[in-house]
Amino acid sequence: MLDEDEFAVVSDVYRQSTKAAKEFRKDTGASLEEMKLQNFFEPVCETYEQLTGERLDDADHILKHCIAKYGPPCANCGRVLRTPEASKCFECGQPAG
Ligand SMILES: [Zn+2]
Repeated sequence: MLDEDEFAVVSDVYRQSTKAAKEFRKDTGASLEEMKLQNFFEPVCETYEQLTGERLDDADHILKHCIAKYGPPCANCGRVLRTPEASKCFECGQPAG
């Protein structure tokens, strides 16, 4: 399991992977089936493995696992919210959700 700071790193990689996947789709018009999403999210799995020594092949699973424990990363500053129930970001005050 990742701690808060490690989760912030992984979620940042996840965000970049999501962005890259979206841009690829926009540029190529490829369908989700054609895209081989796993290739785009491989950096998330690699980062997780570097931090924990544990190999997981499902980036969504990694994210959901951590969000269940800590809450999602702040949409404004990327700082992980302290709990899934947090109403705003501890770091910058951005309302959650
Ligand atoms: Zn914030």
